[in-house]
Amino acid sequence: MSAAPVPDGAGADAGHDLADRLARVVGAGHVLLDPAVTAGYVRDWTGRWRGGCALVVRPGDEAQTAAVLAEVAAAGRRVVVQGGNTGLVAGGIPEAGDVLLSTTRLTRIGPVDPVAGTVVAEAGVTLAALQAHLRPHGLELPVDLAARDSCTVGGMAATNAGGIRVLLDGMMRAQVLSVDALSVDGRPLVRLHPLVKDNTGYSLSALLVGSEGTLGVITRLLLRVVPRPVSRAVVLLGLPGLPATLGVLAALRVRLPQLRAAEFVDDATLRLVLAHTGEPDPLPRRHPAHLVLELAGAPGRLDELLGALAGAGLGDDPDVDVAAAEDVAGARRLWGHRDRVTESVAAAGVPHKLDVSIPAMRTAEFVARCGELAVGGAAAPAVLLRSPRRRQHAPERPGRRSP
Ligand SMILES: Cc1cc2nc3c(=O)[nH]c(=O)nc-3n(C[C@H](O)[C@H](O)[C@H](O)COP(=O)(O)OP(=O)(O)OC[C@H]3O[C@@H](n4cnc5c(N)ncnc54)[C@H](O)[C@@H]3O)c2cc1C
Repeated sequence: MSAAPVPDGAGADAGHDLADRLARVVGAGHVLLDPAVTAGYVRDWTGRWRGGCALVVRPGDEAQTAAVLAEVAAAGRRVVVQGGNTGLVAGGIPEAGDVLLSTTRLTRIGPVDPVAGTVVAEAGVTLAALQAHLRPHGLELPVDLAARDSCTVGGMAATNAGGIRVLLDGMMRAQVLSVDALSVDGRPLVRLHPLVKDNTGYSLSALLVGSEGTLGVITRLLLRVVPRPVSRAVVLLGLPGLPATLGVLAALRVRLPQLRAAEFVDDATLRLVLAHTGEPDPLPRRHPAHLVLELAGAPGRLDELLGALAGAGLGDDPDVDVAAAEDVAGARRLWGHRDRVTESVAAAGVPHKLDVSIPAMRTAEFVARCGELAVGGAAAPAVLLRSPRRRQHAPERPGRRSP
């Protein structure tokens, strides 16, 4: 977000002047100038993008956030808002001279409303902290992703994060009911209202979802929460290819309307995960394609899931292998083969990340074309993953949402 260009001659002195004024708002301990300390804020999770900044400021509540934004705007500096810095397209990485506003001290969680199925959380609350807060109430935020220990609900809303359960519960857009947000110069932009059912005019909160820090700073959110299932049945299928995988999914969606998750992992990716995690192969044979499926709710869901697979003709298919789990550790182990993909790719080298959505029915065509475009052959994924690890300054900003 930009208030105005930095005036000519605004250099280190101007930066220190601003730092003094910000320190009066948030306390000197929450204005970071030392490059050794700010380094972790200006480098992205993948290691691919590295920026710079005049300073990092960490307000402790909404009033401080508003005052910080007003000071930064008056100084003519650009401000980049950052939550957990787990975004994969460098949206939260500032450039030299920018002010980085970190939401990591906005961590209060408000009351849970079990009747409405809502909770209020400040933007800097991590997904893991929110889930821990909701667990004793038998509730959870339906969106889950592997960055859960670091990513914040503000960042998840700003990126309209999807995660691994989009199938049943949708993306963050479906969970964000209302927000408090401030404009670039600190004025209230949108105010949170506590109603689940609201049909008054435009939804300005909805505009903030997916805005990636370009419209304003989200400081607080009213989030939809759902009953936490008491049991989860998970299966990992080994399949002959992606077209077969899509066929299985089509058959299962009709038979299992409550299917909570379905994630595809190809063989090259599974090999990479196994090499990184040291886990044994979950299946007796290698397969070109894998599908992780989850059905959750009352106990006994595994029988239902396996029954649906048999009904779809997979029970005695000689080309298909199945690993299944209904206990917590087993379900976590099977999910690990999908959950740890991003981490395993990053461990193999600096990844080139794109956040691409395509019509589901054209997935097989897309994956095949990607292989051809990358190196002109089917070995593309493995070759891509072997790029050397190196730090670099971003030659240009990557697209927030790549086509
Ligand atoms: C291991 C791993 C797995 C992941 N899995 C998934 C996945 O399954 N699905 C998926 O969709 N994404 C996934 N992601 C990426 C995902 O977008 C982020 O993890 C998360 O949504 C970003 O939250 P954050 O707090 O880290 O935001 P940051 O990285 O800090 O910021 C991301 C963007 O949001 C903006 N922003 C942050 N906070 C605010 C705020 N309070 N107000 C306004 N703008 C703000 C920033 O300016 C930036 O543009 C994954 C990332 C990792 C590292």
